[in-house]
Amino acid sequence: MPELREAPDGPYDVVVAGAGNAALNAALAAAEAGARVLVLEKAPREARGGNSYFTGGMFRFPYESVLDVEELTGELSPVERDSIDLGQYSEPAFYGDLMRLSDGLSDPNLAQTLVARARPALAWTRRHGVRWVLAYGRQSFKVAGKHKFWGGLACECVGAGKGLIEALFQSCGRVPAIDITYDTMADRLQVDRKGAITGVSIRGASGLGSIDCGAVVLACGGFEANTEMRVRYLGAGWDLVKVRGTEFNTGDGIRMALEIGAQPHGHFSGCHAVAWDAGAPVAGDRRIADLFQKHSYPFGIIVNVRGERFVDEGADFRNYTYAKYGKEILRQPRRLAFQIFDQQVVHLLRDEYRIKEVTSATAGTVRELAAALDIDPDGLERTVAGYNRAVVDGDFNPAVLDGKRAAGIEPPKSNWALRLERPPFVGYAVTCGITFTFGGLRIDTGARVIDTQKRAIPGLYAAGELVGGLFYENYPGGAGLTAGAVFGQIAGRGAALHAKEVTRLRSG
Ligand SMILES: Cc1cc2nc3c(=O)[nH]c(=O)nc-3n(C[C@H](O)[C@H](O)[C@H](O)COP(=O)(O)OP(=O)(O)OC[C@H]3O[C@@H](n4cnc5c(N)ncnc54)[C@H](O)[C@@H]3O)c2cc1C
Repeated sequence: MPELREAPDGPYDVVVAGAGNAALNAALAAAEAGARVLVLEKAPREARGGNSYFTGGMFRFPYESVLDVEELTGELSPVERDSIDLGQYSEPAFYGDLMRLSDGLSDPNLAQTLVARARPALAWTRRHGVRWVLAYGRQSFKVAGKHKFWGGLACECVGAGKGLIEALFQSCGRVPAIDITYDTMADRLQVDRKGAITGVSIRGASGLGSIDCGAVVLACGGFEANTEMRVRYLGAGWDLVKVRGTEFNTGDGIRMALEIGAQPHGHFSGCHAVAWDAGAPVAGDRRIADLFQKHSYPFGIIVNVRGERFVDEGADFRNYTYAKYGKEILRQPRRLAFQIFDQQVVHLLRDEYRIKEVTSATAGTVRELAAALDIDPDGLERTVAGYNRAVVDGDFNPAVLDGKRAAGIEPPKSNWALRLERPPFVGYAVTCGITFTFGGLRIDTGARVIDTQKRAIPGLYAAGELVGGLFYENYPGGAGLTAGAVFGQIAGRGAALHAKEVTRLRSG
């Protein structure tokens, strides 16, 4: 693999702030459009890659048939084709999910661009070395001899987020027009008297500096790792949550852009937050990556320390509920919850339940399990008895919304309700882990950052987590990486064209 050049050696047409999925897509697209590019990574080299590194590498994209999926995976063998039931995930279904989960608030233009550009954008990254496989383990269940996929998510990157980031860095390393510098953050945007971008102030180990350029792409994440901003925007209590990913996403891109007049947009008091192991460290661990998450709760019940249920565990496929249930856990006493399962479903639990760094207990009775996990034993016994009485008979099928419910209790459980009756019982202690924040900058469909007078700021582009307006309240799993690829590529191309025009005007 060619080594990346790690010292800024300008002049540069485009500076990209960040080195995650959105940023590297932007850098590659800008270079392909003829720009000389500098990627500024705030993290040291060994911590590069942002939240994207920590992901499962799941990408949401629409597909009508297996042929569309093969655009990313490559051709499947006849045997593999025969063994799967992918169904369909149409463009209207993807758009519908974005709207349904955001209570209709998702910006229609951005949502439409995301949906329409998703597959072409991912196919483009395949040409830049990213590899996908079918997500058998996380997104399918074997039903009647076939792997039935569910939840609109068919593919994951080879090597998950680590594989994704390594592939993108390798691809950047093969492009002579891309330089990268680590341990150096973009700190302020420089503008001329017309308000157009002229450069970036940087801050690194050797002090302060500045880089001239014709355009900047901000792709440096949200403010999920900034305690003060979390409380300011998300509210009280959010200072106490665990950060699932990188410690370096502290809202710098949003701050810098707002300082020069960019328009805030989207759900600033909202974020993606999930059930995360109660014993996990305060910020992401690159070795464990996303395995502290506990996403198989639809097959059990979730209770708090009083032993009370507080959400409908089976309201929908987990891809459509997991991102909003972290917030519900934060509201519980001691910010704790417990996922309880019996032996009928333990074989369905995802890989993350089998790591050794897990906070769990196993017991022969519900009461003993309560004692082992420090849950109120009377409360848990009462809840399990009431829940078991409420379970309606019917066929259990994990691959569809099976309608097998627990009714007449509050909250109900709408699907996959099996009585907790086959010991030993297992319980997992979880807390709230924040993934990323929803509020950010307003961009147009060309990824240009819009100011508070509704005009594009000349030379300023944005992509990834720090874009506001796509996600409100909730989030369809796998949409974040796809959004980063789509708008990263658009931003990179737009920035390159803008910078070339600036150069032409200056030299002419
Ligand atoms: C554990 C976990 C699992 C996830 N799983 C999935 C999944 O499977 N599918 C999915 O779609 N989404 C997933 N997500 C969400 C996903 O990570 C994000 O949507 C996506 O990675 C955001 O990409 P990004 O490029 O915008 O930000 P990031 O990948 O976070 O990159 C931001 C970059 O900016 C750098 N940076 C920050 N500030 C500055 C600055 N001032 N100057 C220069 N650089 C700076 C950071 O160091 C980093 O390199 C997951 C997130 C986590 C934490």
